[in-house]
Amino acid sequence: MNLHTGAGRTIEAGRGRLGAGADAEVRSALSGLGAIYVSTWPQRLALGSAAGLTGAFLHLLTGEQLGGHFTYLTFYPGVAIAALFGGLIPGAAATLVSVLATHLWFTPLTRFDQVVGLAVFVVSSLAVSGAAEWTHRAWMRLGLAERALRQSEAQIRYFVENAPISIAMLDRAMTYVAVSRRWIDAYGLGRSDLLGWSHYSIHPDIPERWRAIHRQVLKGEFHSDDDDFWVDAEGRDHWVRWASYPWIDAAGEIGGLIIAAEEIAAQKLAEAALRESEEKFRNAFAEAAIGFVMARAGDTIVDANAAFCRLTGYSIGELRSMRLVDLVHPDDRPENLVLAAKLRSGEIPGYVIENRYLRKDGEAIWVRKSLSLTREAGGERRWVVNLVEDVTERRRSEETAQRTVALLTAVLDGAKDAIISIDASGVVRLINATGLKMFARRREEVVGKNLRLLIPDGDARLHDSDGASDLPGVDRIVGVGRETEGRRKGGALFPIDLAVVEVVVDHDRMFVGFVRDFSERRRIEGRIDQLASQRLTAMGGMAGALAHELNQPLAAIGVYLETVRRMLARPPDERPARVEDALGLAIEQVMRMGDIINHLRDFVAHGEPDKTHQSLHALVREICSAEFPEGKRFRGAVALSLDAQNDDVLVDKIQIGQVLSNLLRNAREALPDSSTAQLTVSTSQAGADMVRCNVSDNGPGLADEVKEFLFEPLTSTKATGMGIGLSISKSIIEAHYGRIWAESDQRAGTTFSFTLPLATAEIEE
Ligand code: ADP
Repeated sequence: MNLHTGAGRTIEAGRGRLGAGADAEVRSALSGLGAIYVSTWPQRLALGSAAGLTGAFLHLLTGEQLGGHFTYLTFYPGVAIAALFGGLIPGAAATLVSVLATHLWFTPLTRFDQVVGLAVFVVSSLAVSGAAEWTHRAWMRLGLAERALRQSEAQIRYFVENAPISIAMLDRAMTYVAVSRRWIDAYGLGRSDLLGWSHYSIHPDIPERWRAIHRQVLKGEFHSDDDDFWVDAEGRDHWVRWASYPWIDAAGEIGGLIIAAEEIAAQKLAEAALRESEEKFRNAFAEAAIGFVMARAGDTIVDANAAFCRLTGYSIGELRSMRLVDLVHPDDRPENLVLAAKLRSGEIPGYVIENRYLRKDGEAIWVRKSLSLTREAGGERRWVVNLVEDVTERRRSEETAQRTVALLTAVLDGAKDAIISIDASGVVRLINATGLKMFARRREEVVGKNLRLLIPDGDARLHDSDGASDLPGVDRIVGVGRETEGRRKGGALFPIDLAVVEVVVDHDRMFVGFVRDFSERRRIEGRIDQLASQRLTAMGGMAGALAHELNQPLAAIGVYLETVRRMLARPPDERPARVEDALGLAIEQVMRMGDIINHLRDFVAHGEPDKTHQSLHALVREICSAEFPEGKRFRGAVALSLDAQNDDVLVDKIQIGQVLSNLLRNAREALPDSSTAQLTVSTSQAGADMVRCNVSDNGPGLADEVKEFLFEPLTSTKATGMGIGLSISKSIIEAHYGRIWAESDQRAGTTFSFTLPLATAEIEE
């Protein structure tokens, strides 16, 4: 720094001007000359006074002879000495002391010539003192300037030799006077020192234009070039930045020139590389097929490439007035804003997101964005860099694929058959909902496992072949309608019908199996066979029942008609009773037969219930006494426990009667004909609006095979049973808005229960 300041001053001095520190140097030069010249005020006054008093002393020595015009003669030497060593001030002081001494001690001013003498003395003394002062100053300045020039030359040398740049000081003959270390390294051509060498002899290849410039500089001009090129004698390229200017020697003349040069090849190369890479990057950015957009950290768009403009439909000008978030579909903005805030706060380094953009034309497109935050080299400014790719097509095909998969899954799940896809090694890849239900398994228990888990001989079936297929997409029919067995969870085997097709998907052989559960069909087939054989028996049973029911009224009718015939054979006055009465009784029986037939028909095909107010308890008692008449063969006990407080129901008496007699008959048939048999009918309140009736027996309980389908038609365990009683009972109870169910236990027996709405509740409704 000091060096630099010194250099600055030196160079200015070299151009012929004194620098800002000149006054200080004058002072220091004066103090250097202090041996003959007094410079401080007290010294000056003391010198002046002493010189004046010396004059007075001389005056005393010479006596009073020097009067008149020569009164002041002895004072001149003192004034002259004071002026010589002190300049104007001591000279003036000596003059004053001389005047005072003359007039106070020697000659009072009494005559005119004495006054003239005084005036001449004062004026001449001051003139001599002023001249001495001026001479001193001029002389000193001269000495100072020479000294300054000498100093400046030395400083220039010092600066040149120690400068951390390539710099050389040459004299007018272009011989090196001082050179920096860097200069020697760069242009010394291997020499360790250059002092005394001629610049042109070391570099004879220096171009003429530079020699011309040197000549101009030696005339006092300043030259420089920031970007010059030179090929040296050995053919090496030099990119140089240089400056050249004169320096001033101790004589104040241009002593030579200074050349400062800097090789800028490396910098040039770096700049070119940077330019090239910037250009490459800019081209890549501009031409990229993928959208590229940069925004300030505040989200305002700064730049975007052509692909991004095409993607959004906005021009670059329009984009620059927008924020990134303005392009995002309103529904997707909240998610974007949350992520952008995290990015800006540095919580995440970047993120990738798929969302919708709204194009300028209003169309929504799907884009995949990769955002990151970059920082300007060394700066605080940050940019959000966003790479944007249009993925609308991909999203569309994905959505279509998803929809297709969902649709296919729904179709597959809705199929009545189990559908299982298997790979070539027999491993299950897919199974539909029906399949899972059929095999009583969860998906994860099946997928990835061998088909053998579900179909013990399924594997073997894959090698069967029914030949090539005509179906599109199906390569081979492996097996159609093969009956085999499936295995449910727990190991239960069940009959299935298995059809397999072979397909090739993406070069992979796959098999698709269609499985139909045959167990239900088998059961129904069994039932149909059973029914077919039972139908005759059942019809016989029904005919018997009909005959039994109708026999009694028919017999009664026969008796009444026989009585009428006999009565008619007698004269009217001999008849024991009136013919009309006997006919009336016969008609009653005919009506009863009609009722029986009607009820029977209703039992089979019940119509809309004909509801009337009934006491459920009365109905239970009536049916019980009809089913268990006094004296009829049933050795067990029948108990009634009719506890419901309200038994007022609005029902079709005949239909509910049928339900009751069906339940009672089933219970009686389930019970052994022994004294331990116990049959109970009970009623109770079921909530506020319903009454419940239970028919319980202590029989063997429900057989396993009927439990599941108890209330379905054709379910029976009895040799002559039709299996329709419970199904009819269920439809009757449901037609009355009630519910019927069974609870069974092998030890406790079976309880059938049904509920019916109370009449009060129905009326309120
Ligand atoms: P059916 O009496 O003609 O067989 P149902 O529909 O009345 O027809 O009864 C169906 C089956 O329900 C009967 O075959 C019998 O196996 C079973 N079942 C009904 N009631 C009882 C009961 N109280 N105890 C045991 N099993 C019963």
